[in-house]
Amino acid sequence: MTYQSSIVKIDRKAIGGKRPISIQSMTTTNTMDTSATANQIIELANAGCDFVRVTTQNIKEAENLKNIKSEIKKQGIDIPLIADVHYNPKVAEVAAEFAEKVRINPGNYINNNKLYSSITTFDDVEEYKEIEQNLMPLLVKCSNYGTAIRIGVNHGSLSNRILCKYGNTSLGMVESIMEFVEICHKNEFSNLVLSLKASNVIVMIEANILLVNKLNEKGFSYPIHLGVTEAGSGEDGRIKSAAGIGYLLAHGIGDTIRVSLTEDPIKEVPVARKLVKYYGRKENQVHQIIKEITRFHKSLFDVSLPVVVTSGISKLADLSVETNQIFTKQQANDNYLSVSKLSYNGIPNNELIIRATVDTSINVINEKIDGIWIDNKDVTSPDNLAKLSLDILQVLGKRITKTEFIACPTCGRSSINVIDQLKQIKEQTSHLPGLKIAIMGCAVNGPGEMADAHYGYVGSGKGKVNIYKGKRIIHKNVSQEIALDLLIKLIKENGDWINQP
Ligand code: SF4
Repeated sequence: MTYQSSIVKIDRKAIGGKRPISIQSMTTTNTMDTSATANQIIELANAGCDFVRVTTQNIKEAENLKNIKSEIKKQGIDIPLIADVHYNPKVAEVAAEFAEKVRINPGNYINNNKLYSSITTFDDVEEYKEIEQNLMPLLVKCSNYGTAIRIGVNHGSLSNRILCKYGNTSLGMVESIMEFVEICHKNEFSNLVLSLKASNVIVMIEANILLVNKLNEKGFSYPIHLGVTEAGSGEDGRIKSAAGIGYLLAHGIGDTIRVSLTEDPIKEVPVARKLVKYYGRKENQVHQIIKEITRFHKSLFDVSLPVVVTSGISKLADLSVETNQIFTKQQANDNYLSVSKLSYNGIPNNELIIRATVDTSINVINEKIDGIWIDNKDVTSPDNLAKLSLDILQVLGKRITKTEFIACPTCGRSSINVIDQLKQIKEQTSHLPGLKIAIMGCAVNGPGEMADAHYGYVGSGKGKVNIYKGKRIIHKNVSQEIALDLLIKLIKENGDWINQP
């Protein structure tokens, strides 16, 4: 299945009309540290979060949600909490007593040690029964306590049976979540939120569109939570998140969102707010932009999907034009490329990153334009406009000009400081186009969610790291002090290194 060719038109009505869109973030504290966790939740609530998700690894942490709730209430804050549960269904059942929503992962409701060699070796009916049996206690508990369930499927954490049947694909993600939706429906449990996340923007977009179509087909309507996993930090993280979440919001999909960044979670909130402000289903949204198509003769470029900038020379751009240059409005023609020009009215750069990313993603995915040209009066320099254009094309998988970093946002499970480690790794390895390097905080979820990274740097214990080549561990439990050198050595040994320009 090619991602782009299977993107289909969606029906906005299919996802439940005009729900307000709520913003989530997640704590990074130790959940047993009641006061630190409560303080972070309060900070996020004050910044504009509507829900906060809390790492809930075991029964003790599930029970401590009660103390955290009472601590935040004492301080005058009443914000719903989402318990983030993996692996142990019993933890979800305890958390359901204290949290307003419990996030579960379908892959954890089945014995995943069964290895299937082909689709003829498993029995769907038996597995459905096993899932239903394991899920029922949670459905009963959540019904009794009025707790919602978020069924969260991540690309990279599908069960062995789903993987064997559909591969690690967006279709597999949809089929996996639909099994749970059907079981909930059969048992008259409808307090659900559905989420399909991936670190690959196109997979994430495609999975959500397929899901909406599937729900529509079945006559179901459930809220959808959007997020791009392991988006990383800085502009890269913002561009990845904006491309995936913004594209879907602009098409009427999404009821709750989380922008996950490898930064202090408080920094996620303004990005999410901008996405909701400009692309959410709201009355009175302000989004002024001039879009026009200009045609340039092909001979001007020696790359596909060229980047054009206005006024000023940028060594990153493929063409720099003067504002007073007139271009003939040629008809579409094999000799001309259709370059889409998006003109903003001199908006701040932190806003341009979000809006230009979403608008360009819509153009590139829906209209299949041949080149991009972003203009923002004199506020953004030609170099920054060209860099932004190239970065957007990179997250859409259309033009690869630098290393891609897949980095988790960290949470209470993290055993290394992912923010610092990512910064150091980026400093030394950003110049390797085509290479994907994952930096993950824990060995529990990290390896599964590294997606298709070529190399992985995964926390394995306090200050310790496992280094991967693909899915294979090459260096186990090495000290953080020497881990980056070992990673670079491994990249060199495999012939993937080039010297910095
Ligand atoms: Fe938390 Fe581990 Fe996921 Fe990072 S990879 S966000 S540390 S669960």
